[in-house]
Amino acid sequence: RWDCKRFLKNNWLLLSTVLAVVLGIGMGLLVREYSKLSNLDKFYFAFPGEILMRMLKLIILPLIISSMITGVSALDSKVSGKIGLRAVAYYFCTTVIAVVLGIILVVSIKPGVSQKADELDRTGSSPEVTTVDAMLDLIRNMFPENLVQACFQQYKTQREEVESSSESEINTTGESITAVMNQTKEYKVEGSYSDGINVLGLIVFCLVFGIVIGKMGEKGQVLVDFFNALNDATMQIVQIIMWYMPLGILFLIAGKIIEVEDWEIFRKLGLYMATVLSGLAIHSIVILPLIYFLVVRKNPFRFAMGMAQALLTALMISSSSATLPITFRCAEEKNRVDKRITRFVLPVGATINMDGTALYEAVAAVFIAQLNDLDLDIGKIITISVTATAASIGAAGVPQAGLVTMVIVLSAVGLPAEDVTLIVAVDWLLDRFRTMVNVLGDAYGTGIVEKLSKKELEQMDVTSEVNVVNPF
Ligand code: ASP
Repeated sequence: RWDCKRFLKNNWLLLSTVLAVVLGIGMGLLVREYSKLSNLDKFYFAFPGEILMRMLKLIILPLIISSMITGVSALDSKVSGKIGLRAVAYYFCTTVIAVVLGIILVVSIKPGVSQKADELDRTGSSPEVTTVDAMLDLIRNMFPENLVQACFQQYKTQREEVESSSESEINTTGESITAVMNQTKEYKVEGSYSDGINVLGLIVFCLVFGIVIGKMGEKGQVLVDFFNALNDATMQIVQIIMWYMPLGILFLIAGKIIEVEDWEIFRKLGLYMATVLSGLAIHSIVILPLIYFLVVRKNPFRFAMGMAQALLTALMISSSSATLPITFRCAEEKNRVDKRITRFVLPVGATINMDGTALYEAVAAVFIAQLNDLDLDIGKIITISVTATAASIGAAGVPQAGLVTMVIVLSAVGLPAEDVTLIVAVDWLLDRFRTMVNVLGDAYGTGIVEKLSKKELEQMDVTSEVNVVNPF
């Protein structure tokens, strides 16, 4: 029999978050309609939401570090290697499927054919980066030169066209490399650090660190215990943040609704948005659940329901990294996925596995090509697929990161990078949905990798039991 009290008790947080979203939308619309807020008022209005974002971002660092290190050190290196390989295989396959799905949809729906690029406004400017720059940055960021700096900054290359200069010069200072190169077009290539956690670099370091302390035996035990305790403490803080969540989300969404200036653009870009959204829907309602069902043989929608709080959070804050604490809680507490798997699969997934972003980048690139009347042969389609996959891996789990890495895809097929600005106006909305799909993909990944690694995990249980019974 349906027990209303128990249902409310188990799901109060989810229910109050949903309520907050509804209230937030209502409040946003009302304030928009009936009061004239100045820009400064709008800024103040969103304040409680800003505090939520700050808390979520605050906890990312201890969470990633402690969960990765404890996760890896608890597995022996052979097992962690196998689990890692399975996770990466899953990430890769689902991302490629998402890209292919996006391409099929955008090529058949043709959202850009009926329009011309000049009918849409270009807003803002776009950074000049090339595919090679972006790839190199990705690898550079895996090897941070300073661990402390990696906690708040990551490396980014920027290109700027400069007046032609006959001499080429390279000059390296402490934190930036500037090279003016002699090509037909002259570029100033500047590498410097910009704000944002270098999650990839930290993950690589924690991976190695975890394996090493796991192998050290008794000597390393004090470190293992330390990070285990840190992990538990962090998860308790997450619990506290979750209490505040409904309030923060209410103001976050209301603030956003008040802020949006141009609703007309939604009509103009309607077909494009519909293509992206239907792709995301098919991927998350059909493809991912099907893969989960085929491997795990359990009800995928029940699993997705268990992740509801994380999905809703992702939708509201458009960042898979900042959603990570909630993703952990849902996967471990609601879906009861083995912690040895989540600690490993989730942080890496939040950083490199972005099905929603990959699908979106493929659709957006083809859409921009259609706006520019560019004929896409099969070679170009393949180039878009490959670069969209790479661009999604390179995108950080922060709001609108996918828009920045879009430039890689556009420049790979010779489209003007500035055309990214054609879709900027609606990106804040699409970003939310693709982030939700990114988080869902990571979550299903934990269930799938857990199932595939059942044998190893059981074996480990047996050996650890033996250890307890007979330590000598
Ligand atoms: N906001 C997305 C995420 O955090 C990344 C993107 O812009 O596509 O997953």
